[in-house]
Amino acid sequence: MSTFPFWVAGKPVTGGETTTIRSSYDNSVAGRHFVPSDAEIEAAVQAADEVKKEAAATPAHVRAAALDHVSRRITERAEEFARLITAESAKPIKWSRGEVARAASTFRWAAEEARRFSGELQRLDTDPGGTGRMALVRRVPKGPILGITPFNFPLNLVAHKVAPAIAVGAPIVLKPAPATPLTALLLGELLAETALPAGSWSILPASNEVAARLVADPRLPVVSFTGSVPVGWGIRESAPRKHVALELGGNAAAIVCPDWTDLDFAAQRIATFAMYQAGQSCISVQRVYAHAHVFDELVEKVTAAVSALGVGDPDDDATDVGPLINTAAAERVEAWVREAGGEVTREGATLTPTVLTNVSEDAKVLADEVFGPVVTLNRVSSVEEAFDRVNDSRFGLQTGVFTRDLPTAFEAASRLDVGGVVIGDVPSFRADQMPYGGVKDSGVGREGPAAAMLDFTEERVTVLTGL
Ligand code: NAD
Repeated sequence: MSTFPFWVAGKPVTGGETTTIRSSYDNSVAGRHFVPSDAEIEAAVQAADEVKKEAAATPAHVRAAALDHVSRRITERAEEFARLITAESAKPIKWSRGEVARAASTFRWAAEEARRFSGELQRLDTDPGGTGRMALVRRVPKGPILGITPFNFPLNLVAHKVAPAIAVGAPIVLKPAPATPLTALLLGELLAETALPAGSWSILPASNEVAARLVADPRLPVVSFTGSVPVGWGIRESAPRKHVALELGGNAAAIVCPDWTDLDFAAQRIATFAMYQAGQSCISVQRVYAHAHVFDELVEKVTAAVSALGVGDPDDDATDVGPLINTAAAERVEAWVREAGGEVTREGATLTPTVLTNVSEDAKVLADEVFGPVVTLNRVSSVEEAFDRVNDSRFGLQTGVFTRDLPTAFEAASRLDVGGVVIGDVPSFRADQMPYGGVKDSGVGREGPAAAMLDFTEERVTVLTGL
């Protein structure tokens, strides 16, 4: 088995210390990678700083071509990427394949946006002082970007940092999650095939301590972070002069309204998206608030749908639910289920998908981010009560609302304190065209290539006089 190089200023680096990455399913070796030294980390940051003017001046057609190339090559090597994601994260192979397809589309969409991204011409003669003047407003990169990513989408969340950075011409230093760095390192092979300026990208599989040092480095003025709530807000507090975007955790809810008739569909979607990736997605369905009119039938159908899920070997095409990222995570979730009065079976890092009903509001499985294969179904006596209970949370990523009633849909869209409301489906829907992100503890800023490109740039005004 080969040992993956890391990437400094677009070049593969080997030698020195290595780290072995193992699957939490059977402890098998997913791969090894070389670990960057302090000098190599310094070289990556220095290169990003030195290349920033050249990167910003790279023509849009070169940036778009690079993004299209990476998209195509991800598709060509899709099965290799999917197998590697599964090997290092223990994500079931069918979900890994889905993630790879998503990442190809993220790069493709970023290429489209790179071609469109422009400025505007403003007239200034609306006030007497501006007579004879116009302003050309361009968007320029704020500077090199530090991208920090979590373990649960080792390719797609990396794509959400790298692709918009390339699209706007900003250098990026990427720090992937320690548990799942190999997929990001494989992506480096594709980036190395492009004509992007040397120095404009580095991928450093480094420790949390190194990540914290990078956060403090003034040469990386933008931090784009996806990960857990305490680490994210800690970064923002430690770097008050930086632009820090945070995509953090949540306890996403689905509301099932009394008008919703297709309970088979709702139950199937809830079961699937509560348990996919063993619940380790920031918008997994964690809380369901179902109207009394549909509650009993929904419980029956969700329970049946959950028990039909295939649990086990992530490499098996039939597996729906694999293990958690490590045994400690599974033990924590097990303890939370017991605290809420439930029962769950655990074998190593694998937990049986668990449905709990009418759990007390302050139980951790409801109030905190469970990040495990657990869903709570709760009876409410009105849709208003459901809205209130969804809002009674320190998180706010997305909410799904099963309704066909237009006034209820609009009411949900305006009353729910979340970054996005999905009508007619679970909260777990995300498309790259949409701005995606959270409110309250769930973060600040929006992702999706177009939103991230705005985030990574600022306006630069040129006033034209006497033209
Ligand atoms: P984590 O916070 O433990 O780690 C995320 C990254 O932060 C890793 O790369 C890690 O090395 C780095 N890190 C850790 N300590 C650091 C520090 N002091 N300074 C700088 N960087 C540091 O998160 P995780 O366990 O890998 O991921 C799970 C979390 O991510 C969940 O809370 C989940 O909801 C969240 N998440 C959010 C989204 C979203 O888009 N909102 C998407 C996926 C995951």
